[in-house]
Amino acid sequence: MSVSQSVDYAFTGFGVVFTIVVALIIYMVVIIKRQMDHFTDGRSYEDYKIKYPAHVKDGKVYCFKCNTHDIFLKQVGNTTNMLLNSHICRNCGCELYRSKMYL
Ligand SMILES: [Zn+2]
Repeated sequence: MSVSQSVDYAFTGFGVVFTIVVALIIYMVVIIKRQMDHFTDGRSYEDYKIKYPAHVKDGKVYCFKCNTHDIFLKQVGNTTNMLLNSHICRNCGCELYRSKMYL
């Protein structure tokens, strides 16, 4: 197969579909990676401590809305080497902060 035949193949029939599918997969991987990199931006435990200093006492975290200490961890995403967690108030259901856990 010559170079011009290869180029023709890439722009016809299966070649077009294959090229679009590969481009979409690369696009999705980039989007997902970007979302994971910025998952905790401005919403980490450190950010929560700075934003609500009165609600982090003696290593315990309290809800900024209802002042409850009852917080549960919800896993909202995972990859082969990372877990994305959301720390949620069990009483009012609001998200307090987010964390990443490397496996
Ligand atoms: Zn609450």
